[in-house]
Amino acid sequence: MLKGKNAVVTGSTSGIGLAIARALAQDGANLMINGFGTPAEIEKERAAIEKEFGVKAIYSPADMTKPGEIAAMIKTAETTLGSVDILVNNAGIQHVAPIEEFPIEKWDQIIAINLSSAFHATRAAVPGMKARRWGRIVSTASAHSLVASPFKVAYVSAKHGIAGFTKTVALELATFGVTVNCISPGYVWTPLVAKQIPDTMKARHMTEEEVKRDVLLAAQPTKQFVTVEQVAALAVYLCSDAAAQITGANLPIDGGWTAE
Ligand code: NAD
Repeated sequence: MLKGKNAVVTGSTSGIGLAIARALAQDGANLMINGFGTPAEIEKERAAIEKEFGVKAIYSPADMTKPGEIAAMIKTAETTLGSVDILVNNAGIQHVAPIEEFPIEKWDQIIAINLSSAFHATRAAVPGMKARRWGRIVSTASAHSLVASPFKVAYVSAKHGIAGFTKTVALELATFGVTVNCISPGYVWTPLVAKQIPDTMKARHMTEEEVKRDVLLAAQPTKQFVTVEQVAALAVYLCSDAAAQITGANLPIDGGWTAE
């Protein structure tokens, strides 16, 4: 379906981004992956994508806090792959602290990675998409683009920003065959989440099941985690021709969290 299309996925060395990259490749898209990690692990993932799906996959180490590196990443993708038809703004980090203690550098870093990087990457990719009159921009927002939780001021602000960014750019590009949407997952089962469980079991004297149900999934009515594959399938759908009339949308995939 996406054969011949070229995609850039930021923050795709692990978790949701890696699953989206692999799902796009499975659908035929060539890829630029991006993110941090050990060079050997990244090369293993990159080579596996090429081998399993028969597409071209390249890697950019661009740091999403650095506007110049982001613009250069898009340029390299355009020259090496031929174009950027699909851009997935996915890189993101979290920090949890009360506002009066929230480190200023963490605020700046989260706004840069979770919000401004989407602006810089989109700004660089849009001229090519407009010229070809086809493009798909998908950003990984969060349930926290729709509702808040205490102690996550930078994350919630950045993710609400992504929702507004999505609507604005969607309107600007509506007549150019370019759709712009964001996906808002609730709790997704990633290694990051799994790692929190043993410590929480100890601290709260709870079983693994109790931690999952009463702590992590307290806000998620289905009491089940979203999987990275489910998020990736939604991203691939948004890149398909069937989704050509979906633009400016913020799609929750959160087990009912934001319905409450
Ligand atoms: P993750 O930590 O597994 O992946 C984050 C990715 O971003 C990694 O590839 C990392 O290397 C990359 N990254 C971090 N800082 C970077 C930087 N400065 N430059 C380039 N790359 C950088 O986390 P995840 O859970 O897969 O999260 C991916 C996205 O999904 C984030 O935007 C996150 O906010 C969002 N999200 C996650 C959940 C969840 O429950 N896991 C829920 C909702 C939204």
